[in-house]
Amino acid sequence: MAKPSRGKVYLVGAGPGAADLLTLRAARVLAEADVVFHDALVHPEVLALASRAERIAVGKRCGRHSTAQRFINKRLVDAAAKHRTVVRLKGGDPMLFGRAQEELDALRAAGIDVEVVPGITAALAAAADLGVSLTRRGASRNVVFATPRVGDGEPTSDWASVVAHADTAAIYMGAGEAAAITAALLARGTPSGLPVVAVENASLPGSRRWFTTLGALPRLAEKAFRGPVVLLLGEVFADAARREPAYADLLRRVAAHLLRA
Ligand code: SAH
Repeated sequence: MAKPSRGKVYLVGAGPGAADLLTLRAARVLAEADVVFHDALVHPEVLALASRAERIAVGKRCGRHSTAQRFINKRLVDAAAKHRTVVRLKGGDPMLFGRAQEELDALRAAGIDVEVVPGITAALAAAADLGVSLTRRGASRNVVFATPRVGDGEPTSDWASVVAHADTAAIYMGAGEAAAITAALLARGTPSGLPVVAVENASLPGSRRWFTTLGALPRLAEKAFRGPVVLLLGEVFADAARREPAYADLLRRVAAHLLRA
């Protein structure tokens, strides 16, 4: 019996949500795919581009049961033994908080050809939605992508020190840990008045945003989220915040509180 021909695996960024924020390269690879392993939040129109492929959901979703990473790695290796074009489709960009390295390492260790197709990451989609540049001459010369999340049994991360020193920061997988984020950053000397914007479902219809400050961020816990949320922190958001009526109201209440004290 002939040895099965080895296929190629593509780690493809599906972008932040909106189907038309996919790259042309991603669309081409999807059209050629024999099998697609995709995250839970990938837009159905993006999946529909993989018209000839078997589509398998392996997504990790906050607070839900997730397929163990090692099992996903194995399925990718097995699929490459059977199919010519295997796609692993991930939300946003595969190389940011997407466990891409584990998959790349497993595929390379198995001698399988692998290529990464980038996608638009959530923070950049959120900045576009807000119409606020993450960098600004004279105000922000760096942007940090961070998460307070660490995997089970992994070493703790000093994300807070890095975020505290950043001009602008995007915090992924952090909306459920607002109180801990505020405490960690205040402890490192970040001013409580630092503007923060929480953007939910960036790039999608029905996207929502909340303008707040670092000090008031724990109140985010009162919101019932309907989708993924990225937190953006930095002075670059001050002007956009001032234009937001709810934020102006928050500032008025803080000022009134301070005057009474
Ligand atoms: N690789 C992805 C990130 C995966 S981690 C990327 O590059 O975007 C999952 C986190 O991404 C979520 O908890 C949230 O913080 C963020 N996220 C993903 N899609 C988002 C969206 N449409 N709007 C806001 N945040 C999003």
